[in-house]
Amino acid sequence: MESPPPRELWLTALGQIQLEVTRHGFDTWFRDTVGLDLRDGRFTIGVPSTFVAEYLERRMRPLVHKTLRGLAGQDLCVSFEIRQQADGAVPAAPAASPSRVRAHGKTAGPLNPRYTFDAFVVGKSNRFAHAAAIAVSENPGAAYNPLVIHAGVGLGKTHLLHAIGRVVQGKGLTVLYASAEQFTNDFVSALRESCVEDFRAKYRSIDVLLMDDIQFIAGKEHSRESFFHTFNDLHTASKQIVITTDTRPKMIPLLEERLSSRLEAGLTADILPPDLETRMAIVGKKAAEDSIDLPGPVTDFLARRFVRNVRELEGALNRIIAMARLTGRPVDMELANQAIADLTTGPVRTRRYTPGQILSATADYYGLQQSDITGASRKKGIVLGRQVAAYLLREDTERSLTDIGSILGDRGHTTALRSHAKIASEINLNAGLRRQVTELRELIDRDALRQA
Ligand code: ADP
Ligand code: MG
Repeated sequence: MESPPPRELWLTALGQIQLEVTRHGFDTWFRDTVGLDLRDGRFTIGVPSTFVAEYLERRMRPLVHKTLRGLAGQDLCVSFEIRQQADGAVPAAPAASPSRVRAHGKTAGPLNPRYTFDAFVVGKSNRFAHAAAIAVSENPGAAYNPLVIHAGVGLGKTHLLHAIGRVVQGKGLTVLYASAEQFTNDFVSALRESCVEDFRAKYRSIDVLLMDDIQFIAGKEHSRESFFHTFNDLHTASKQIVITTDTRPKMIPLLEERLSSRLEAGLTADILPPDLETRMAIVGKKAAEDSIDLPGPVTDFLARRFVRNVRELEGALNRIIAMARLTGRPVDMELANQAIADLTTGPVRTRRYTPGQILSATADYYGLQQSDITGASRKKGIVLGRQVAAYLLREDTERSLTDIGSILGDRGHTTALRSHAKIASEINLNAGLRRQVTELRELIDRDALRQA
């Protein structure tokens, strides 16, 4: 049987997908997509942005895959490709269009242009890691291989990784930046959709592999194995590998012996929390980037208060700048104190969302219906969505536990409490979950902006 052209096949698929996701979810993620190409069991879908590509990869792949299998009568290997659009219109016929941009699926998240070596403040605590990163970027594959950057949260691991990526890209080398979580997801969907060869080819065709947060792979046997093979092949071919971790490789208890000894064959550079002088320099530099004239006492105040995590330090500064801009007041100690008052007195409870926003975004994010969240199903995916909704309802609204129980569908306050507690404790251990919650909050913020 001749299969229909990709464009029509995808339109039919969209018709079915529309029934499975919320209207809002459909409009946000599927509306501007187009069937581009179908050959050798591979179906390519054009999407308007990296953001949409990443979301579809992460959240909607199973639904897309299942729908296409139903229509095509066979397993298709699905890939998303970003299409440049001149006028915001859905691009026309696929094969004729020369302006495709290779998306590398989700794995080649673009490098953050702010994360450069120039923007990185060097001090005692990070000098060694910074020097190693520079050496590797100047001499990829030759200096230290692998380079492992080890540090706690918010101390500049991702920043240095992107900075290396940018420099070696400038040399015309092919760079793949992926968090270990993306690597894992990529591998799992490759397994499911019999695209393992593609997966191998993709990860082996590159010159430089930048793998963020490797600790994520520790407990995942298949991904660990796959990473080990990728690593060996690249390493043997003298391709540069840079890895970041918040746990020393030796200490990741489940990481296989052979992988961990391979990691230790390279160079491990630690970043420690910055000293006061470095923190002051960071604040000064960030303020200057924003053309803000920060009085000495405010710089000092911030640098003394946020000690362990540069991201928090930066966040506090951003709040101060935002408040000054919003109110037209000068940046002084009074404003600084006010702006960060709730950052420094115990846990931050912002309470800015409505239950409706939380339910709708959580459902969209996990590819569920709101009725799944409020319903009785104990399916794993649904239970997770429900628990995360409970967590956000407790953290980000003023509702009582009893209220939250009934918002979640006639449940009692103990269920609300337990669901919240489950996520609240797991979020400390599980970087993937932490990231989901962050992304979900970003999604709600974005929705709110769109409606404002
Ligand atoms: P990690 O990946 O270790 O959790 P990030 O690289 O994401 O941390 O850094 C968190 C934030 O702090 C980023 O915005 C980054 O630019 C900034 N940052 C961290 N260290 C420095 C530094 N030494 N100089 C300038 N900015 C820094
Ligand atoms: Mg990071």
